[in-house]
Amino acid sequence: MNKPVLDIIGKTKLELGPAEKQNFGNWWLGRDDDNVAWAIVDKKNARANTLSQDVLADLEKVLDALETSLPKALMIRSAKSGGFIAGADIGEFRQVTDPAQVEERLRKGHAILDRLEALSCPTIAVVHGYALGGGFELALACDHRVAVTGASFGFPEVRLGLHPGLGGTFRLTELIDPIEAMTMMLTGKTAHTQKAKSLGIVEVITEERHVRAAIAALVKKRPGGRSRGLKAMAFNLETARQLAARQMSAKVEEKAPREHYPAPHELIDIWVEHGHNRKKMQEAEINSFARLLLSDTAQNLIRVFFLREKLKANSGGKSSVAHVHVVGAGTMGAEIAAVCAMKGLTVSLSDPDHQALGRAVKKAGKIASDAHLSGIQVRDVLDRLMPDPKQYGLARADLVIEAAPEKVELKKELLASIEARAPGHAIIATNTSSLELPELVSALRAPERFAGLHFFNPVSKLELVEVVSHPGSSAKTLADLNAFVGAIDHLAVPVKSYPGFLVNRILTPYLLEAAILLEEGHEPELIDRVAQEFGMAMGPLEVADRVGLDICLHVAKSLRDNLDTPVADIPAKLKEKVDAGHLGEKTGRGIYKWKDGKPEKSGVGGEAPEYMEDRLILPMLNAAVECLREKVVSDSDTLDAAMIFASGFAPFLGGPIHYAKTRGTDYVIETLTTLEDVYGPRFKPDEGWKELGK
Ligand code: NAD
Repeated sequence: MNKPVLDIIGKTKLELGPAEKQNFGNWWLGRDDDNVAWAIVDKKNARANTLSQDVLADLEKVLDALETSLPKALMIRSAKSGGFIAGADIGEFRQVTDPAQVEERLRKGHAILDRLEALSCPTIAVVHGYALGGGFELALACDHRVAVTGASFGFPEVRLGLHPGLGGTFRLTELIDPIEAMTMMLTGKTAHTQKAKSLGIVEVITEERHVRAAIAALVKKRPGGRSRGLKAMAFNLETARQLAARQMSAKVEEKAPREHYPAPHELIDIWVEHGHNRKKMQEAEINSFARLLLSDTAQNLIRVFFLREKLKANSGGKSSVAHVHVVGAGTMGAEIAAVCAMKGLTVSLSDPDHQALGRAVKKAGKIASDAHLSGIQVRDVLDRLMPDPKQYGLARADLVIEAAPEKVELKKELLASIEARAPGHAIIATNTSSLELPELVSALRAPERFAGLHFFNPVSKLELVEVVSHPGSSAKTLADLNAFVGAIDHLAVPVKSYPGFLVNRILTPYLLEAAILLEEGHEPELIDRVAQEFGMAMGPLEVADRVGLDICLHVAKSLRDNLDTPVADIPAKLKEKVDAGHLGEKTGRGIYKWKDGKPEKSGVGGEAPEYMEDRLILPMLNAAVECLREKVVSDSDTLDAAMIFASGFAPFLGGPIHYAKTRGTDYVIETLTTLEDVYGPRFKPDEGWKELGK
């Protein structure tokens, strides 16, 4: 009997076609008794499928076999428990230097997907987990798409400075409302199961055990072929597309200016010009993709992709933390607790303020539902998160995270009482952002199990966590903390205790310089705009308002008191605002007035004077070099990654050190020296530049 069998892959039960299958390298091909063919993609020696060149080449062989003897229908699925296909093999994007070679590769890929699309039997992609980038494009070349509950579809290429390159630009705009299709490609956002159905990406949602029945019904109802969607027809006219594109372009320009991020803009151009003509659009997609791939923006963003992989690998060990006790349920504690509970850990959360505990539970529910968890999953998260005013949870904690107010005596007292009540094996971590660990550790009897775990706000959105060591912390404590950070899907950066640690040490001079420029009389809108034009995700004054001016002041003071290198004097205006209680977003007023989570900005703030950009940016590069020289962090790649993921340092420039090297270290030193002459010692080039320049 050649009936489909269930294969157990990992913990997931997947129906992977008949037992007897022919192997074509990275693919399996089998037929069941009803002459339905199953093509199963199973990339060799890989945990996830990617649409690498060899996977595509093997698909060609599968198509040869299918064309020789056409089945009644073809079903395509993945044998990996995690999902369908995660996208292209990005490693292959790094080795290219010649646009003609890229075009040739793309043309080959297009020809294969065109052949799949032209098969004269119904073709169905059955997707569980993710279908991203090239994986989504393969699914789009099929007549039908069936989603197993939990499946998601997306084009994340924009994040790499690219747009879809294997037919996604025209196949998605032909299939669904082109505005929705363009939005998906321009934002890189994923459509989860229900959304994919409502957009028309998938026809059917099914549970794994009903896949076969769903497909039989589908083939019977709609035997094959495809037609241009109604919405797509409405945009057959170039003028209609031009009108829609104007709005899109304006929105994209705001988030990703053409000068820094050309890909989304080129995508809009291609659609406007060729949206009515598949052949021309295909050609334009190939040309543009090849050009973009070799641009500095894409190559730097691809570098950033691999930096993230490197950080992930840092925290790849197995975490032994099952229960976390969080002390302090404020801004940080509440989010830390929520994120841990979402990742399956049990969490107890203490705070003398009962209302803070109530707010924290409410926030956890919101974070969980914003992350597309189902109602049942949200309930499970809340079940795992226990408000614990009496701190009973301490007794069974594997890890205690202290996130109480930034007051040294309070923290010392808390740490001592935590140590007295927590089990002997538990790690004790502090989320302090400005107190140095050697000061705090004096409160503990066993310094080896103490370290810093410095999260960034908001914890549910910013992946980076500094794992801060002090001279007494043990290697095991640090390794366990790295693994814990990996287990909650965050990125660990090991750093040494140093004023401001790594990220705040580098970021603070930039925020301070912005405050000095403000004091000199420049409009805040101008200062923020100049930084954004350089490529920062957000202007420094808006960042300061979001972080809280009191916190910024605290960090600035601690840098001034503890660093050996010169730091700017703290501008009087900053102190005045804090004294007046204008602390930023949280009080509705800081440097800006805030409404509905947004600063009220008026105008663009006028003309930028010479050196404003350098005054803002170069102090960060200088502090970055100091951190390398002081060995706060192990290497410049890790430093670049930390600044990009925690502070939004221009990703398309590849991070502060990468940028300094691209610009030329001699030139940076020269400019810093000029700034030092005019504005004072805070711009004095760090000694570490000599080392970096070598
Ligand atoms: P917060 O004021 O929002 O929250 C602190 C919470 O601690 C409050 O709910 C308060 O009731 C509670 N608390 C007071 N005394 C306590 C005690 N004895 N035991 C337990 N809880 C007590 O502060 P936050 O912004 O969440 O900051 C907490 C820590 O995280 C600080 O060390 C801060 O430096 C650090 N941090 C803050 C940020 C940020 O952007 N807010 C970022 C990184 C690190």
